[in-house]
Amino acid sequence: MRYVSTRGEAPVLNFEEVVLTGLARDGGLYVPETWPQMSKDDIRALAGMSYADAAAVILQPFLGDCISKEDFREMTRKAYGTFAHKAVVPLSQLGPNDFLMELYHGPTLAFKDVALQLLGLLYDHLLGKQGKKVTIVGATSGDTGSAAIEACRGRDAVDIFILHPAGRVSEVQRRQMTTVLDSNVHNIAVEGDFDDCQAMVKAMFNDHDFRDRLAVSAVNSINWARVMAQIVYYFTAAVSLGGPDRPVSFSVPSGNFGDVYAGYAASRMGLPIDQLLVATNRNDILSRFFNTGEYRKASVEPTISPSMDIQVSSNFERFLFDLEGREGAQVKQLMADLDTEGGFAVELSRLNDCIFGAGMCDEKTTLETIRQTLKDSAKLVDPHTAVGLHVADTARKDEKAPMVTLSTAHPAKFPAAVKEATGVHPDLPDHMADLFEREERMVTLPNELEAVKSHIVKNARILETN
Ligand SMILES: *Cc1c(COP(=O)(O)O)cnc(C)c1O
Repeated sequence: MRYVSTRGEAPVLNFEEVVLTGLARDGGLYVPETWPQMSKDDIRALAGMSYADAAAVILQPFLGDCISKEDFREMTRKAYGTFAHKAVVPLSQLGPNDFLMELYHGPTLAFKDVALQLLGLLYDHLLGKQGKKVTIVGATSGDTGSAAIEACRGRDAVDIFILHPAGRVSEVQRRQMTTVLDSNVHNIAVEGDFDDCQAMVKAMFNDHDFRDRLAVSAVNSINWARVMAQIVYYFTAAVSLGGPDRPVSFSVPSGNFGDVYAGYAASRMGLPIDQLLVATNRNDILSRFFNTGEYRKASVEPTISPSMDIQVSSNFERFLFDLEGREGAQVKQLMADLDTEGGFAVELSRLNDCIFGAGMCDEKTTLETIRQTLKDSAKLVDPHTAVGLHVADTARKDEKAPMVTLSTAHPAKFPAAVKEATGVHPDLPDHMADLFEREERMVTLPNELEAVKSHIVKNARILETN
């Protein structure tokens, strides 16, 4: 399997190179040159398999000959063995044809563990083989950071630097990052918003000298391996509900468009999906795009679903690449328009036969949905999941297709909103019960690229050993 950049000007890479690189050198993102195909029989054969084994089967074609079948199966078993539920991503039922896919049973209680637990092992395997080190630099709106830190803590080949917007992540989210005291873990609170953090990470990737000197790698959802790992649960959920012989719909709480893009990838691989709903909070650039054809930046508004407080969704470029007939030059032009003019538009009719639908959920409705879900289905959900449930309800076309809403975080990660909506304080699971007593370590830096870069240069071990 070979990977090409969405802007058409970076070298074609194999899986190993793509995982260790992240962002392409032309500023684009790597995507598979072709989509591997699963026939209906291949999909039916997933029924009854463990999640780890299904992951090994579904993902093998993406690896090319970089990792042997046996090694990869061992990695998926190890990665998903860290989850607190035997089904890894269990489905629960909310209504006659409404389901929740609980993606929050990993070590940091958000869906990002599903991809990052595997990515941590991929780094070990690929770097160990070459005796190399990398410096991971990432931006987080809350959940990526803790999941990435948890996946990389204590690993010899990896130093990890995570930027988060100071004061704009929940206390649980912050503590999940800053209480990890391993010496290879570096938390940086930036005096800015998430888009500032993300822009700095992009700038560091585009500084080729910095990037090469530190062997910088990305764990943000721009890393192909993350999107790839998320493809699996669309298949396993659909098979549990009668797929591939019955199309299933999904509603996906979205920010950076990584999770919902994985659903799109599953459909391109042959999974029958009825509707793929992009659910956003007030920061609704994505739902505006799918409803109007216009992709236009606005300022970021803080919400009670902070992991989706994003305006420029990195992975959207991957979808745009397909929409533009895989013409890198065209994607490059549109992204330049986004930078210089704040947006671009495509003919709405061109979105007619894509499987995406979209909707927005405001703050009041998010709280109302948390309250109503507890009342109607005896289930406590977090604010991100509530956004998904609301859009599942309002943007659904076919009542007969089972609707699976992705539950992206455990309610205890966002206790304030859950308590406000229901009066119930969601408890952290036992293994995290003392989170608020643990010691924290982080630095706070101004919203300036040079300040962040010099902090990284000062602390990255790769510069000591080389
Ligand atoms: C990251 C995150 C999202 C958004 O996922 P994207 O892949 O960025 O679209 C939604 N909910 C939670 C809880 C998250 O952590």
